[in-house]
Amino acid sequence: MRNNIKGLASYYTKKFDTRDPFDLADALNVLYQIGNISCDGYYMFLKNHRYIFLNQNLSEHDMKLVMAHELGHAILHRKQNCYFIRNKTMLLNSKNEIEANKFAMELLISDDILEENKSFTVEQLSRMLGYHQKLIQIRLQKNL
Ligand SMILES: [Zn+2]
Repeated sequence: MRNNIKGLASYYTKKFDTRDPFDLADALNVLYQIGNISCDGYYMFLKNHRYIFLNQNLSEHDMKLVMAHELGHAILHRKQNCYFIRNKTMLLNSKNEIEANKFAMELLISDDILEENKSFTVEQLSRMLGYHQKLIQIRLQKNL
């Protein structure tokens, strides 16, 4: 399962008919709360429940991204906590962070969007979709 994050994301988006990380969290019984916290978001496993906390000051776009990343941990790394700081967490090279970013990108960017814009460079896709170039690169990577 961990060898194919794309397949896993595709399974969930089809099963629950959504690419919205909040809807998916509801469907998977992952609890989340939006409030006044000191980082952009975090995930934690507590008393056998999965919780995601999001910073209320994030834009709608960023909140969806942080949520999708943390949901990746909730699904792939159930027991590992993650503190998310934008531009920092996105660039981390640890295996788990890359996997969470891969899950987030697979969830938020459909194959159709990439197919429609296949002549675009990473930089152009980054600008069009509003995600860091490194995230776009992770999305385009096939062997994750
Ligand atoms: Zn993380």
